[in-house]
Amino acid sequence: MSKLSSSATSSPSSSGHSVGAKGLRIVVLSGPSGTGKSTIVNRLAAQNEVKLIKAISATTRAPRNQERHGEDYYFLSKEEFLRRRDAHEFVECFEVHGSDKWYGTLKSEVQRAHDSGGWAMLEIDVQGAMQVLALYPEAVTIFIRTASEVEFEQRLRARGTESEEVIQRRLQTARRELEMADRYRYQVINDDLDRATAEIVQILKGVEGNSNA
Ligand code: ADP
Ligand code: 5GP
Repeated sequence: MSKLSSSATSSPSSSGHSVGAKGLRIVVLSGPSGTGKSTIVNRLAAQNEVKLIKAISATTRAPRNQERHGEDYYFLSKEEFLRRRDAHEFVECFEVHGSDKWYGTLKSEVQRAHDSGGWAMLEIDVQGAMQVLALYPEAVTIFIRTASEVEFEQRLRARGTESEEVIQRRLQTARRELEMADRYRYQVINDDLDRATAEIVQILKGVEGNSNA
């Protein structure tokens, strides 16, 4: 069972590094491991119809093959991560996949997106998403899924970056996450990358259009 962090229970405005809710645009993307979230996030960051800034998460897990500190994640030691958590530097942070690995969204990353006039794009798990919604009810939440469960298992295996034990744990988490899909404002099926990316862009353009009306 994952733990709720102490900072996740406190309001961001009650801490030293506050991120005020006013005018913040946050889009949260979640979905089971292997559904293609990271691939979609990179595509979204590269398009220019909607200004989306990827909030780089912090984690205590080790980098995979090509991953770089400050680009894919801030790779932190557990001590450093917990120190920052205790200093209320996170919007949300959790142990994900019950693996003793911590992941969290830094307030400074949401602020960075806001300062540059874009949406903060968070690719986080369902616990994190629910925490963000509790703090920022206006956040746009999107659940990404594959057309079938078999499909994401195949993608996860094809990616070849996890051991069988880790894959099994992620499949278990995925089943729990799929049960939460209805809590998201939108669900997008990533059967085709171009189509899924375009659908998300359209959702956000629609939200922007409504808020400018
Ligand atoms: P996640 O971030 O959700 O764990 P990734 O973005 O790492 O997933 O994608 C998992 C694998 O699936 C990668 O090898 C990626 O290239 C592949 N993939 C992503 N989207 C699609 C798609 N629409 N069709 C086929 N393969 C895809
Ligand atoms: P991975 O180890 O495959 O990069 O990510 C594993 C899981 O951690 C994914 O479900 C991803 O969405 C989630 N995750 C990544 N960053 C964060 C974060 O900042 N907060 C939370 N709560 N989950 C995250």
